[in-house]
Amino acid sequence: MQTELLKPTDRGLYCPAGNFYVDAWKSVDQNIVTHAHADHARRGSKSYLAAKEGEQVLRTRLGSDAQIEFRRYGEPVSVNGVKVTLYPAGHILGSAQIRIEKDGYVVVLSGDYKREADSTCTAYESIRCHTFVTESTFGLPIYRWPNPEKVFEQINAWWRSNQEVGKASLVLAYSLGKAQRVLEGIDSSIGPIYTHGAVEKLNESYRDSGISLPSTTYVGEVDAKQTDWTKALIIAPPSVMGGSWIRRFGKLSSALASGWMQIRGTRRRRGLDSGFIVSDHVDWQGLIRSIEETEAQSVWVTHGYADVVARSLVEKGIDARTIETEFQGELLEQPSEASQTQDATDG
Ligand SMILES: [Zn+2]
Ligand SMILES: [Zn+2]
Repeated sequence: MQTELLKPTDRGLYCPAGNFYVDAWKSVDQNIVTHAHADHARRGSKSYLAAKEGEQVLRTRLGSDAQIEFRRYGEPVSVNGVKVTLYPAGHILGSAQIRIEKDGYVVVLSGDYKREADSTCTAYESIRCHTFVTESTFGLPIYRWPNPEKVFEQINAWWRSNQEVGKASLVLAYSLGKAQRVLEGIDSSIGPIYTHGAVEKLNESYRDSGISLPSTTYVGEVDAKQTDWTKALIIAPPSVMGGSWIRRFGKLSSALASGWMQIRGTRRRRGLDSGFIVSDHVDWQGLIRSIEETEAQSVWVTHGYADVVARSLVEKGIDARTIETEFQGELLEQPSEASQTQDATDG
């Protein structure tokens, strides 16, 4: 990098000129947050800057007393003389890429991002820059997402066939972002939709932000024994698998909505009946295309398959390096390892 506009530290990526961090994983004075997933937005910093679109969601995650300044996409703010502008990343509601500019040099940090259509958040925007810092959660050529419309048709068909044999349909999806995207994508006329409390809390944040979702009922609000679950779709975080929470539904079919469902064997290993490829990250082609569109001469690759991506970029003549971070979305998507905090991460 021409100037030391950004450097990796043990607290997170740091901009010395502006004296701020981006997605710091330890407490810092000024933290700019790309999005509300728990491994990116951590509690304990003195002040935060984030995208206005994600205000309700980030408040739900960081608490009402956190000091957060919200800015609209494209609206620049000066942080100690460094120009900072947030642009949509298309990952979840309020997800942002952070553009940092000083003395004509531009760095963009992608945060997590995807290119597929998703009406629950603003679409990803390509930003030209000198240095691009990208995630690489699904940075292997084997990851190629199918058309989301086709995937939602598969989910609808699976739901209907479960109804025919008298089974409840349990979709496992991360409570922030994925669950709302699934809700928005399915055909809600097929039957009633119920939610786990962690999902319903975020549904409220989405609705408060003006995102329309089909109507849902929180499972805890109904008498499980009096409810006919055989026509129902239930959306819950992956952490419920193997626990007692799911017993109330009687006979059920379970499915995980995740990019990991692309890998044969994952579903069986996890004891799931079905799997649907729904990812909130770019696939391999989307990743490479996004990097090329930035026209960056220098690329830093973070969490995921950083080595593979960096090597491939170097072969294309791009100056690429891997950066150690503590973002963990790619590890924590595994249902068996998920816990309450881990549920807040994504895939
Ligand atoms: Zn994320
Ligand atoms: Zn991430």
